[in-house]
Order: sequence, then C-alpha cells, then structure tokens
Amino acid sequence: MARVDWNLHSRFRACRACGGEFAAGDVVRTGVLPFADPLVQTIFAEKIAEEAAKAAAGETPKPHPEFARLDFCENCWKAKSGEAVWTSAWKSAYVPPPKQDEDPAAKASPETLLRSLVEGDAPDEHLQAIYLLAVMLERKKILVERATRFSSDGARVRIYEHRRSGDIILVTDPCMTDGEIPEAQAEIERLLGI
Ligand SMILES: [Zn+2]
Repeated sequence: MARVDWNLHSRFRACRACGGEFAAGDVVRTGVLPFADPLVQTIFAEKIAEEAAKAAAGETPKPHPEFARLDFCENCWKAKSGEAVWTSAWKSAYVPPPKQDEDPAAKASPETLLRSLVEGDAPDEHLQAIYLLAVMLERKKILVERATRFSSDGARVRIYEHRRSGDIILVTDPCMTDGEIPEAQAEIERLLGI
C-alpha cells in the first residue's frame, strides 16, 4: 500500500521557477502534479538526489508524497503551465504566514486539531477523524475542495486548500460506513477535550 496519501503542503514563500519571493497580495499560481511528473522531478531534482544518496548510504529515505504542490508567480506560470497535465491548478492571493507568537495554550479548535493530526506521528491511526474534520471545515468554508483523485492503490484522495493560508491538505477518503461516523465523532470530541 502506498505510504502517505494524505499530506499537508504549505504554500511556498517564493516562486518555484524564478525564486522570486511573494509579497502580501501577490497573485500565486498553484498547481498539483503526481510526484513522478517530469516537471516535479526537475524542480525537486536536488532534494531527490539527496534522498537517493541517503538510500545509497544505507539510510532510510523519507517517503515522498503521492502528489506535489508547486507555486509560481504569474509570469513563470505562463511559461510553465503548458509543460504538464495538471492534476489541479488554481490562483490565489499571497498571505504571509502568521507570526509564531500565537498562544500555545490556546484552546484546540477543529482547525488546529486537523493540522496536528495530519502533521503528527501517527496520522494513519486517525484517518477517519481527519476525514470528518476536513468535511466539517469544508462546510464552514474554511477549506475548499480543489480536486479529487485516486492514489496508486485506488484510494480516493481529496485535495483541500485552506482559504486563508493557502495550505493544501491531502485527505484519503476512508469510506466510512454510517455506523463508523459516531465513533469518529466521539474521537474528535475526545481530542478537542469536549
Ligand atoms: Zn517566477
């Protein structure tokens, strides 16, 4: 089974082609491609070579995600957009990341819980809670679904974008039965401390 079908990808602070840093309000063109796409392989060539060197040295390389996110400035998008068949693409306005001085003791919200589960050590154990939280945040218009794709092992993967921050989150549909939903809801309430 393919590892890591869900993932969180923050909007990059600079264009992946020219390296120009984004400023507040700049138009950002975001495209999602399968990791194996030649454009992804070119842009991440250095990182891929590093991982290959680690593997050659007997270390375990980091598993790569099924899809990769690429952010471009408007000009580079014009030049690059024709080079690939995009899984999904959209444009948004750049919002600088929030300062890191947020109160760490602030109460957990569905938003912070989703982020901590996706970025945590054992997201596989929380697939159902992750999925329900994503659906909940989509209803609140905090997340917007950009595309649905199938991963190599046949699982349905929903590609969500956080409207404000531009983060994208890949969420595997766990195909829950009606009977499993209350269980997942109870898990979310427990994690939120309700
Ligand atoms: Zn550029």
